[in-house]
Amino acid sequence: MCFGVRDAIALALEHADAGPLTILGDLVHNPTVLGALEAKGIAVAQDVAQVNTQTLMVTAHGTSERTLARTRALGLTVVEATCPLVHVAHRAVTALAGDGYHVVIVGQRDHVEVRGLTGDLDRFDVVLDDEDILALEEHPRIGVAAQTTQAVEKVRRLVGLIRQRFPQSEVRFVDTVCKPTKVRQTAAVEMARQADVVIVVGGRSSNNTRELVKTCARYCRRVHHVQTDADVRPEWFEAADVVGLTAGTSTPDDVIDRVEARIKHVHVQTCQP
Ligand code: SF4
Repeated sequence: MCFGVRDAIALALEHADAGPLTILGDLVHNPTVLGALEAKGIAVAQDVAQVNTQTLMVTAHGTSERTLARTRALGLTVVEATCPLVHVAHRAVTALAGDGYHVVIVGQRDHVEVRGLTGDLDRFDVVLDDEDILALEEHPRIGVAAQTTQAVEKVRRLVGLIRQRFPQSEVRFVDTVCKPTKVRQTAAVEMARQADVVIVVGGRSSNNTRELVKTCARYCRRVHHVQTDADVRPEWFEAADVVGLTAGTSTPDDVIDRVEARIKHVHVQTCQP
């Protein structure tokens, strides 16, 4: 689990002990962790208007200044768990907009982090694939930043496409993909190259987990995304000598350990005559 998510969970649990708490959006995209928070009585609201507690927590994914202002105007106490590396991305976007660049974010339009990154901008674009680049309009200055959990290889490729599409524009790219994501992606590539089967553990809606799945699938033909050990299927390991295991940044260690134990268990069964 990356430090940003780990610290945010610790902060949520600490504040939940002190009194009723609502988290704005999913703190993490992992059902196991969300279940543990729910068991502690922590509420989740997708919008400030739905909050019924005095204290509101902003997740590791961050939020916009406009949302924070709305929250404070309602008299709510705000607990900030925004990851420092998401703050770095916010500062990059603010600087690009301040320097007169039309901001383009590489990321998922509806992801809470991307909504936070774009929430203070009046004009911006969000792109995720080649088709989105074709839909962009020309601007004299285009400033590109990325959702922190995107695969940096893909981000660089899309920046290249933007440069090709608008040769007359000044295109400035600020790499805001976070270090834990990069380290994990690089390690996953090395692992996937050597593995017959790769298992990626993480929430279905976790962006960095899905990016890990896509990255591994470029180097290994048998890649499976599981949320818990219950999803692991024995037939995946037939004729497999090397099984690679990796996980998204919001996956707790005990969930990964259980998946590993289950893989070993079913692999032994698969190998028995
Ligand atoms: S994935 Fe990166 S940006 Fe997001 S919380 Fe973890 S360290 Fe921070």
